[in-house]
Amino acid sequence: MESSQPNYGLVIKGGLVVTGGADGTDYDPGALVTEGSAIRWIGPLESLDDQKIGRFCEVVEAKTSIVLPGFVNAHTHSNECFDQGTYDNLPLDLWSLYTYPFSDVPRLSERDCYLQAMLSAVECIRGGVTTVQDDLITPIPVPEPVSGAAKAYLDAGLRAVITVSMADRPALDTLPFLEGNMPDALTSELRKIDMPSVADLCELFRGLHATWNGVDDRISIVPAPVGPQWCSDNLLQEAASLAESFDTVMQSHVLETKLQAILGQKQYGRPVIEHLDGLSVLSPRLTLNHAIWATAREIELIGERGSSVCHNPLSNLKLGSGLCPVGKYLKAGVNVSLGTDGRSSSDTANLLEAIRLASLVHKIASFEYEDWISADDVFQMATVGGAQSAGLRHHIGTLEIGKKADIILLDRNHWSFVPENDIVRQLAFSATSEAIHSSIVGGKFVMRDRTLCNVDEDALKQEIKSASDRIKAEFYPDIDLNARRLLPYVSRIYRDIMKLPWSR
Ligand SMILES: [Zn+2]
Repeated sequence: MESSQPNYGLVIKGGLVVTGGADGTDYDPGALVTEGSAIRWIGPLESLDDQKIGRFCEVVEAKTSIVLPGFVNAHTHSNECFDQGTYDNLPLDLWSLYTYPFSDVPRLSERDCYLQAMLSAVECIRGGVTTVQDDLITPIPVPEPVSGAAKAYLDAGLRAVITVSMADRPALDTLPFLEGNMPDALTSELRKIDMPSVADLCELFRGLHATWNGVDDRISIVPAPVGPQWCSDNLLQEAASLAESFDTVMQSHVLETKLQAILGQKQYGRPVIEHLDGLSVLSPRLTLNHAIWATAREIELIGERGSSVCHNPLSNLKLGSGLCPVGKYLKAGVNVSLGTDGRSSSDTANLLEAIRLASLVHKIASFEYEDWISADDVFQMATVGGAQSAGLRHHIGTLEIGKKADIILLDRNHWSFVPENDIVRQLAFSATSEAIHSSIVGGKFVMRDRTLCNVDEDALKQEIKSASDRIKAEFYPDIDLNARRLLPYVSRIYRDIMKLPWSR
């Protein structure tokens, strides 16, 4: 039976079905029927009858499974995928010199970009992710990263929101404290680096959107101005108007570090979020990645404008960036999603790791335990929060009739759930991704009993190893050299900024 048949469906029969909906309805034992890419029926097993089952349905026995909505990894960068375990003990502003070099930026082939995204896809699927938001930061405006990633996610079977990243500010402006604080030769070298024009970046977006958006009903192409310190006001506004006219979401890195907060104040003469609001960029379409160093007024403003915040606790800890005030955002009515961030800064695309860390780490931020965020809050962030940030709130995030059949199945007999107390808490505090045995995206299996349906993992590993060796041999010596030349100066600025006062 071919899953390409329009009437193809699944009857997932038995087990605990957690809908994730606002009313908290679960069915135990439950059943779920899919038809094509959508959920046709969901309810208690005893109500399942022939009328609810479509034609060509395959029965999936799920008596010993927990059926959940698939997770949304709301922020990652597949372009970092070959770098896990490469860096340690570097704060973001120094780590970026290696991962996002100003010069000698490698231009990778579409196949290399495909392999990076495939690696991301494999980790995502194994970690229960059915939708990934891949923010492809590409300092040079070329189509290969987006095309490669789109092909990879289509092949792997995932749903993906892929960004066309945009930056046009000269390198020196992104760290203006550098000027006058390093040798003139280095300063003039940085001055010579060409940046793309706003028109070129918008053109690139239009072309890639025309090619990939909506393919197989699984790919969205969205604009992503990398962050205010890397983008002119004109580019920020143009990106927002692209999102408006193409009816997409957009995302941007904002207030990830204290340096960014202080730089923003210096650049704009007001807090960054207030500046974005002044440009009319702050809207429900926008997800602010990280948003750690926001003042109380900025948090309020984000809530008033309906923008989302994406929390990335793994990379925030590893790069020493700080702790996102998630509790304050939730109190301000802000939609919060959850991401792993890239594999150079968090070293994984497995969202379950982020779910665990987010459920734990905020409890050390304050003694006010009644304000701590809960495992339930984090589950919401990983499902409906991510769905909203991806612009897919009406299509994914919960198991409901008419929504996409993006579903994960966990082993109810896995030690994490034995004995059974509270599924969501056990998922957050106890489960490992080995408990996730199957995954369905748009009504089609992408992993079944821990075997990926569309990926030859052995062949993929071989190709990734040789691609990574080749890329590292060709590009990394220069990247290393350039980073080391800048490191002492950026390091001094970093230390000076860290001493400056800042309060929420
Ligand atoms: Zn990021």
